[in-house]
Amino acid sequence: MRTKIVAGNWKMNINRDEAMQLVNDISAEIQNHDINGNRVMVFPPFLSIQGAQDASGRDSRVEVGAQNMHQAESGAYTGEVSAKMLLNAHVTKVILGHSERREYFHETDELLQQKVDAALKNGLEVVFCFGEKLDERHLGNHFTVVEKQLRKALFHLSKEDWKKIILAYEPVWAIGTGMTATPEQAQEMHAFIRKTISDNYSEALAEGVSILYGGSVKPSNAVEIFGKPDVDGGLIGGASLNAQDFAAIIKAM
Ligand code: 13P
Repeated sequence: MRTKIVAGNWKMNINRDEAMQLVNDISAEIQNHDINGNRVMVFPPFLSIQGAQDASGRDSRVEVGAQNMHQAESGAYTGEVSAKMLLNAHVTKVILGHSERREYFHETDELLQQKVDAALKNGLEVVFCFGEKLDERHLGNHFTVVEKQLRKALFHLSKEDWKKIILAYEPVWAIGTGMTATPEQAQEMHAFIRKTISDNYSEALAEGVSILYGGSVKPSNAVEIFGKPDVDGGLIGGASLNAQDFAAIIKAM
């Protein structure tokens, strides 16, 4: 059985005080819910991480991660944060490759490979995001695009490294648009991703990798999307900013 995960990517929302409140509210909402060995994560902006940690207590079921990091260990990179700084702040997981980082901050597959390597070298867990744009899907190139994103950033990794990788398929056209992939489209792509990993590594490894879906997941569509055999949970944007909605999505896992 693969681990299921519901993770909230708060993006550039929620200040430190609000983070404490939101995590408190999420904990209260899921208080009597058995997550059954599955995982719940939130990814606040850097400055709100400690507030979220303080509210969760470091051993709680709500795990706290970071949305980004720099690939270098340290140095003259104004405005950046390293893997070691995250670890020092008790952060053990990081999102890499989000489409907003790729688009607005020009992060390439090559750069993401370096970031993934730096994260893994420091023992961080990586939630690696990827997905095609609308025109790429219209042209029928979505499988090729996704395969390339995975190959360039991840397929140099060892089998051991993959224990620290969580995948998040986020079709760019579905992010923040209200336009969700249908459960069938998600399943089709997730099965393709698993097959691609299986072909490059082994079936056993591919069967163990959690593949999350992201893009306009809401309480109203989560049950159906998470019900698909290769969808192991979700990476949630907008709906993760509301404790009740996020809790409802956790309960759909
Ligand atoms: P939305 O759920 O707001 O579409 O965002 C998805 C996302 O980008 C999560 O990383």
